Amino acid sequence: MDLFEYQARDLFESHNIPVLAGAVATTADEAAQAAEVMGGRVVVKAQVKIGGRGKAGGVKVAENAADAKEKASAILGMDIKGHIVHKVMIAQAAPIAEEYYMAILLDRANRNFLVMASVAGGMEIEEVAHTQPEKLARVGIDPNVGISSELALEIVRQGQFPSSVENDVADVLLKLWAAFVAEDATLMEINPLVKTDDGRIIALDGKVTLDDSADFRHPDHEALVDSSAANPLEAAAKAKGLNYVKLSGEVGIIGNGAGLVMSTLDVVAYAGEKYGVKPANFLDIGGGASAEVMANGLSIILGDPEVKSVFVNVFGGITACDAVAHGIVQALAMLGDKATKPIVVRLDGNSVLEGRRILNEAAHPLVQQLDTMDSAAAKAAELAAK
Ligand code: GDP
Ligand code: MN
Repeated sequence: MDLFEYQARDLFESHNIPVLAGAVATTADEAAQAAEVMGGRVVVKAQVKIGGRGKAGGVKVAENAADAKEKASAILGMDIKGHIVHKVMIAQAAPIAEEYYMAILLDRANRNFLVMASVAGGMEIEEVAHTQPEKLARVGIDPNVGISSELALEIVRQGQFPSSVENDVADVLLKLWAAFVAEDATLMEINPLVKTDDGRIIALDGKVTLDDSADFRHPDHEALVDSSAANPLEAAAKAKGLNYVKLSGEVGIIGNGAGLVMSTLDVVAYAGEKYGVKPANFLDIGGGASAEVMANGLSIILGDPEVKSVFVNVFGGITACDAVAHGIVQALAMLGDKATKPIVVRLDGNSVLEGRRILNEAAHPLVQQLDTMDSAAAKAAELAAK
C-alpha cells in the first residue's frame, strides 16, 4: 500500500524523523483554518499518490490563511497525471537552503535492501543517477545486519553531503531505517530532505510503501487505507479472504490456483476477440472450494454489473471435482434469485466424472458444462456477447 504524503509525514513524526507541522484538508475553508492555526507562511500541497506534484503546479507557497484558501481552491480538483486531487496538506513553510535526497527500498533482484542518498535532491533521483552519478550513494543493506552508525556516516559521505550536516543526515538515515524495519515498509523516500537557512535538517516530502503481506502484524495500518479509492467488490472480496482483482470486461472468471486462473484469462481473452468481450476479473478460490467459498466468489462476481456470463474453471486436486460440484449447487441454492447470469463450468482432474454427474443431476437452468477449457471459454464469451 502506498501512503499519501500527509500519512508519510505522520509516520515519520512517530519515528522521530524531523518534519514540520502538517494538517490535511478536503476543502479550501478547512485549508484556511489549518493555515490560520499554523500561522505565518505555509505550503499547500496536493495529496495524490504520484510524484512530480511540484512541477505540475500542485505545490504552492501561501503567505497567510486567505492566500492558503485561494491556493487550496486552485489545487483541489486538479488533475495531476490522471490523479484527481481530493485533499491538500497544509504544511508549515521551510526556508530552504539546500535540498538533498534519501531513500531505503526493498531490492528484490539482490534480495536485500538498498539505501540511496545524495546531496543533489529535490529533482527526480533518476535524473541525479543519470547526470551526477558520482553524487549518488547506492549501498546494499544486509537485512540481518542493518545499518550501524559507522555505515550511516559512510553512506552520507559517499553521497557527498557537506561535512557540516553529516552527523544530522546520518542520524536521519538511522531513524529512517528504524522506521522502515518497524513498519515493514518496502519503500521510504525523503525528497527533498532539506537544510534550512538556520541549519536544521528536515524531511519535507515523504513517499512510503508498506508491505501488505505484513499487514497481519500491523493492525494500525488498516486506518491508512484509502477507502475512497478501493473498489467496493474488491473490498468485499478481501473481507471474505478471496483473491479477487476487478478487470474491465464481461466474462467473470472463477478458478482454483493462480496459474490456472491466469491461463483462463488468456483463453477467455482469445475466445472473446471474436465477440468483442474480455475477462471481467480474476478470482482465485484457492485449494478449498467449499460451498461457502464458491457462494462468496459467485456472489461477488454476479455483483459486478459489467459481468454478463461466468466461467468456472476448476482442476480437481486435493479438493476433488465432486466437492466443487456440490459447492456450485449449494452456492446457487444459497444465492437463489440473486443468481441471474449464465454460468459455464469446466471440471477436470480428481473425481471429474462424479463432479459432472452431480451438476448434470442438479440441472440448474443457469449452468452448462463443457469438457475442455477452450470450448468452455468460447461458450462463456458467446453468452457474454448476447
Ligand atoms: P513533489 O514534486 O511531488 O516531489 O513534491 P515536493 O513535496 O517534493 O515539493 C516539490 C518542491 O516544492 C520541493 O523540492 C521544494 O523545492 C518545494 N517545497 C516544498 N515544500 C516547501 C516549503 O516548505 N518551502 C519552500 N520554500 N519550498 C517548498
Ligand atoms: Mn518530492
